[in-house]
Amino acid sequence: MVITDSPKLKKYKKKFYFTKTPDPSDKKKKKLASLSFVIQKHHANNLHYDFRLKMDDILKTWAIPKGPSTDPSEKRLAILLEDHPLNYIDFKGTILDDEYGVGEVIVRDGGTYRNLRKEKEGDGLSMAKSFDGGKVEVWLEGKKLKGGYALIRNGEKDSYQWLFIKMKDDEADARRKPVKIETKSIQSDLAINQMKKRNHDEYY
Ligand code: MN
Repeated sequence: MVITDSPKLKKYKKKFYFTKTPDPSDKKKKKLASLSFVIQKHHANNLHYDFRLKMDDILKTWAIPKGPSTDPSEKRLAILLEDHPLNYIDFKGTILDDEYGVGEVIVRDGGTYRNLRKEKEGDGLSMAKSFDGGKVEVWLEGKKLKGGYALIRNGEKDSYQWLFIKMKDDEADARRKPVKIETKSIQSDLAINQMKKRNHDEYY
């Protein structure tokens, strides 16, 4: 598949200064599994987890302040951010641009996903249509998280507030608390507070 410049990224590019920061530009295109996702832990002023789903030629991105839960009764706020370039999928390091929050980023989880709505009889919606309708359902096959997750838009079509909810299935587990116990990067085995002590070049 040939990936071309997306008009959806223009807003992102305008705000971002690629020369001042180690964040990836989208110049070097990556070959990704068609349905990939990542969860990055981002130690900005307000700690949050960036959840990104590959949709066509961009990464749909939500910031989840409390991180993912495996408990279906916990509805986690997920704030929709602008689309990000595909290269962000394995970004780790320190974001220096304060518009996006200065601070360390580790890749906490990642893998592939399935579009559960597409698989449903009588539903069959693409990711783009599910997103537009404010209800995305995916099956995550991450290194840590697995199972069905729903993203539900809270409010009108232009609302940035979504909810990230574990669906009820065999992978649901109210006691697991992944944010507390599974803290390390899947790339380097470092937790974020260990990474902070190191020279940037060592983990970049
Ligand atoms: Mn972030």
